[in-house]
Parts: sequence; C-alpha cells; structure tokens
Amino acid sequence: MPSDIFYSEVKHRKWREAVLRRAGYLCEECKRYGRTDKNGLPVVATTAHHIKHRDEYPELQYDVNNGRALCAKCHNKQHPEKGGKYW
Ligand SMILES: [Zn+2]
Ligand SMILES: [Zn+2]
Repeated sequence: MPSDIFYSEVKHRKWREAVLRRAGYLCEECKRYGRTDKNGLPVVATTAHHIKHRDEYPELQYDVNNGRALCAKCHNKQHPEKGGKYW
C-alpha cells in the first residue's frame, strides 16, 4: 500500500526531526568527545540513529528516546555491517 509507506515516511521524518532538535542539531557523539569540525565549530548532526535497532525493537522506532543525533561520520561507525547505508 503506497499510503502506508507514505505514512511511515512521515512518521520517520517527524521522529528524525525531534531527535535532531533535542540535540540542538549537533552530533551527540562528537559533542561527547569534544570534537569539532575543520573550522573549530561543533559538528552538525545530519542523521538520527536508532539506539535499539528497529528490526529487533519495532515498537521503539518512533521513540525519541531511542534516537541519537549523529553526523554522517559517526553514524557510519554505528553501521559497519551496512556500509553506512542505513538509518
Ligand atoms: Zn559525529
Ligand atoms: Zn543508524
């Protein structure tokens, strides 16, 4: 059903937005280690990562507390198994 896919995309987008907003749009992992970008500024988060994987915890996939705001680099490190191509 295309409408189901659309619905879950909207939900995912809202979840992602909420996770990023909560982190102030900064990478939580870089912030924790005090890393900055090449201009010496805090690293911007571009991705919301599921702490508990949605394959195993589908009920948590739209839970903001199950999300972490990460930059692309940190996010890729969370998913060595997927070659970085995963939410
Ligand atoms: Zn980062
Ligand atoms: Zn992820």
